[in-house]
Amino acid sequence: MTLPHAATSGADPDQAFRAGLRQFLAEHHPGRRPNDPGERLAWTKAWLATLFDNGYAGPGWPREFGGMDLSFAQQVIYHEEVARARVPGPPGTGVGIAAPTIIRYGTREQKQRWLAPMLRGDKVWAQGYSEPEAGSDLPSLRTTARRDGAEYIVSGQKIWTSHAADADVFFTLVRTGTQESRQRGITYLVIDAHAPGVQVRPLRDLTGGHQFAEVFFDDVRVPVGNRIGEENDGWRLARTSLGHERTAGAMSQAEMYRRVLTELEELARERGLLADPLVRDQFVDLEIRVGIIRYKAQAAIGDILAKGEAGPVSSISRLLITAFEQDIHEFALDLLGPVGLLGKSAPQAVQRSRWLHGFLRTRASTIGAGTREIQLNTVAEQVLGLPHEPGMPAR
Ligand SMILES: Cc1cc2nc3c(=O)[nH]c(=O)nc-3n(C[C@H](O)[C@H](O)[C@H](O)COP(=O)(O)OP(=O)(O)OC[C@H]3O[C@@H](n4cnc5c(N)ncnc54)[C@H](O)[C@@H]3O)c2cc1C
Repeated sequence: MTLPHAATSGADPDQAFRAGLRQFLAEHHPGRRPNDPGERLAWTKAWLATLFDNGYAGPGWPREFGGMDLSFAQQVIYHEEVARARVPGPPGTGVGIAAPTIIRYGTREQKQRWLAPMLRGDKVWAQGYSEPEAGSDLPSLRTTARRDGAEYIVSGQKIWTSHAADADVFFTLVRTGTQESRQRGITYLVIDAHAPGVQVRPLRDLTGGHQFAEVFFDDVRVPVGNRIGEENDGWRLARTSLGHERTAGAMSQAEMYRRVLTELEELARERGLLADPLVRDQFVDLEIRVGIIRYKAQAAIGDILAKGEAGPVSSISRLLITAFEQDIHEFALDLLGPVGLLGKSAPQAVQRSRWLHGFLRTRASTIGAGTREIQLNTVAEQVLGLPHEPGMPAR
């Protein structure tokens, strides 16, 4: 297949790539996001299939698995254009988190079996790491996988599993060693979400949505061929995923927030609020921060291209983005005053209550993908070289 973005002649190839992508996004745009969750998932999947089938999926992925393998400059352009077009991203957390681990540690057969259907949106992947007693201290996880011939038998519970209700596949960390073995007794296992013994119970979040769920495994049989890497070596593999989780989407989030900030400025202008110097001062602060976030996200893409991993610096990106998204929504509510607190069904609700929804949604941003305190510890120890915190697992 000749990829559309490979065809460049004469003019600056990066500009030609941008023009081609922009035209493609305009011509194939999926239209407005459906409100109904089921319709929304089908709409998202149809869009990802369109991207994949036309060679426009996976900007950083190897071509042999359906990706684009773009240069640094074109990955940046890709994220800018996709954010500008307001099209949906991949459903689930597989593309950003599980895929880098599979690409690096999976067997050839696993790569062929899993990667393209994940990128095309045919299969939704969700991350089953956290448990009720194992969040920040993940090495204390208790979900067991007992070997029985060519299968593992998995029992236990995961929690806060984002997109679990839509998932076809869970990528999990399970205990194959003794409880005391902590991170030395953990295995990376891929589990069919529709297998007998898997139960998903949605959890309601602050916005009223059901973005995550509890997942129960009751003697679920999993083929040994679904194990990534060696038995008891899952912690090392998970560290790749965690680095990528913190980086995943940093560039697209940076571009999205660049756009959101402009939209908030327009709203403030419409309401005559930009005359206030304190308001303008806040906007300048947010402008500078979104610029720094974009710079850090670009640096992370550069690190992934050069070294294969974003490394501990990804925690800095995560800290900057999560603080920014909380602050911009809080500022928006301050700007709007009481009317900003109206729910979307109220006639006077501003922009269908998007700023209130964003405010509520982003309260959890400094918890997911590792809490703010854990990210600060990572920066302190692994970037600044400060002493390791006693009681926490060695990195
Ligand atoms: C929106 C959202 C989506 C999520 N999606 C997923 C998902 O898809 N898959 C998944 O597996 N998990 C997911 N999680 C779970 C998330 O990874 C955990 O909630 C997180 O790691 C914290 O674990 P915990 O909730 O058990 O809190 P705890 O680890 O019990 O922490 C409680 C408090 O203690 C602090 N603390 C703990 N240890 C330390 C320390 N050493 N130093 C300083 N402070 C510390 C924490 O910062 C926090 O404030 C999600 C969470 C959220 C909010």
